[in-house]
Parts: sequence; structure tokens; C-alpha cells
Amino acid sequence: HADSAMYTAKAAGKNKFSFFAHEIEEGLKTKHDLEMRMRAAIESNSFEVFYQPKYCTTEEKIIGAEALVRWRDETGGLISPLSFIPLAEETGLINRIGAFVLKTACKDCLAWQALSPNLKVAVNVSAIQFAQADFVCFINAMLRETGLSPSLLELEVTESVLVCNLENMLIVLKELRGMGVSIAIDDFGTGYSSLTYLKRFPINVLKIDQGFTRDMLRDESDHGIVEAIIRMAGSLKIDLVAEGVETKEIANELKRLGCTTMQGYYYGRPQPAKAFIASLVQSNE
Ligand code: C2E
Ligand code: MG
Ligand code: MG
Ligand code: MG
Repeated sequence: HADSAMYTAKAAGKNKFSFFAHEIEEGLKTKHDLEMRMRAAIESNSFEVFYQPKYCTTEEKIIGAEALVRWRDETGGLISPLSFIPLAEETGLINRIGAFVLKTACKDCLAWQALSPNLKVAVNVSAIQFAQADFVCFINAMLRETGLSPSLLELEVTESVLVCNLENMLIVLKELRGMGVSIAIDDFGTGYSSLTYLKRFPINVLKIDQGFTRDMLRDESDHGIVEAIIRMAGSLKIDLVAEGVETKEIANELKRLGCTTMQGYYYGRPQPAKAFIASLVQSNE
């Protein structure tokens, strides 16, 4: 097999290599185009912030919102963050997009206080942003500029933030905690970090990844993992949010296991600020 494979590769010869080179070139071109479009979109304010409710089942109301960035393209369509955040991180543009999201989220959250006192806003932060030398100052300046209380801001970070540059991250997280900002671990259980950091890092919230909740009624391992995360968070006195809650049945099972804060399509999709306010008003009635 090995011989014939080599023979085929050799036979394909030059053409094969030029084919690959062409593909790489195309890939780079697409990437470069996307980067240019992203730069233009920043200049023309084409990014928007959507909000998805976080619902408390014991208080029976919305207690927070997660800010999720959207890119409104030239045709008025929405581009998902999944298709541009990776390149935004690679190019450093995430710092500018992230600053816009943070500022918008802080301003909006402050405006919501009249409707719903103590409603919190959660903002996703990339490892790249976290690694900026002035990140803590930046957060501080944003809070002062917008007037939002630090206790109403939650930063969602993935485990990748914790694994890279551990000692430095510990200092940054402690400073943020000292200011009164909350830290949530997003997509918990899907990264490469160890459980030790739950003890060492000042973490307020674990977000159970939607990959575990989605099939937890059918898949015994997923159910077991969710149950274990809930118990562990309980004994470590860390708050929990279940992500990707799409049905009443999943919500009920999570409640039975002791998780009372839910986020997912069953409780509300990410929506523009205006529509989110309408949900808030409804939830308060
Ligand atoms: P994430 O922070 O884990 O956000 C949750 C994602 O799951 C969101 O996708 C949300 O729309 C989606 N989702 C929520 N409920 C459900 C549900 O019940 N079912 C299903 N199938 N999906 C649900 P979205 O908005 O496309 O964002 C994807 C990811 O992009 C986010 O994952 C986050 O990692 C990243 N992201 C979004 N906004 C920002 C941002 O402003 N900055 C950074 N750095 N990353 C962001
Ligand atoms: Mg998140
Ligand atoms: Mg998540
Ligand atoms: Mg995610």
C-alpha cells in the first residue's frame, strides 16, 4: 500500500504540488479579504451586540444577559461570531471589536437598571484581550466611562485563558475580582485545564457547556458529567449557568439536579437590545 501510495504521489508530481500551492494561495486570499472586510466593518460601525437572557428558575425572572457580537454585512445579513472571531483573534482586531462590545454592553446594562435592578451583563473575552498588558486598566476605564457598577459586569473566559501564562492570569483575575468584577468559565469541561485551577483561581461562575446539556436526557455519560459539575460547583461555592437549554425537559432535569440558572433557546434567543428589553418587561410582569 505504502509503495503504491508513493507511486501515485510521484506520478501526480508537479501538478499535485501546484494544486496545493494554489489552494493555500486561495486560502490566504480569502483570509486577507476577510481581514480587510473586518477592518472596514470596524470603521463603519457594522458590529452589533445581541443579548441572550440568563433566567433564574427560583426567582422566575431574567437575572442577566450575555452579550454576543454580530456583524451586519453589506447586504444587511448577520455574520456569526464563529466565522470571524478566530481571524479577529489572529489579527489582533479582537481588541477593537471587544472594546466595542464591552462598552456597548456596559452602557446597555446601566440603562436596564431602571427596569430590572441588579441585572448583570456578561461579556466574552478572548485570551488575546486578557493577555494585553493594560487589560485591568482597560476594564476599569470602561466601567468609569460608562458608569456601570463593577458588580454588574461578568467576564466570560474559556479555559484556554487559564492555561496560557498561568501565573500572570492569576494576578489579572485577582485584580479584577478585587475591583468587584465577576469571572465566569465559559464552555466548562471542554478545554485542557485541570481542576486545580478551580481552587487556585478566583472564579465566580461555571457555565456548563451546551455539548453536555444537549443530550443529557439520552446520553448517560453527559448526564453524569452534568451531575458531577453541579455537585462540584456546589461544594466549591461556585455559581452555575447551564448553556444550551433548548427544552422544558432538559430545564426540569437541570433543576432537579440543583442548577437554577439557565441560558438557551428555551428561555430566549440572542436578540437586539430593543427586543431584549421587551423580554425583560415581560419577565418582570
Ligand atoms: P459562547 O460564549 O459559548 O456563547 C454561546 C453560544 O451558543 C452563542 O452562539 C449562542 O447564540 C449559542 N446558543 C445559546 N443558546 C443556545 C441553544 O439553546 N442552542 C444552541 N444550539 N445554541 C445556543 P454565538 O452567538 O454564535 O457565539 C458563538 C461564540 O462566539 C460564543 O460562544 C463566544 O465564544 C464567541 N463570541 C461571541 N461574541 C463574542 C465577543 O463579543 N467576544 C469574543 N471574544 N467572543 C465572542
Ligand atoms: Mg459566552
Ligand atoms: Mg459557552
Ligand atoms: Mg463557545
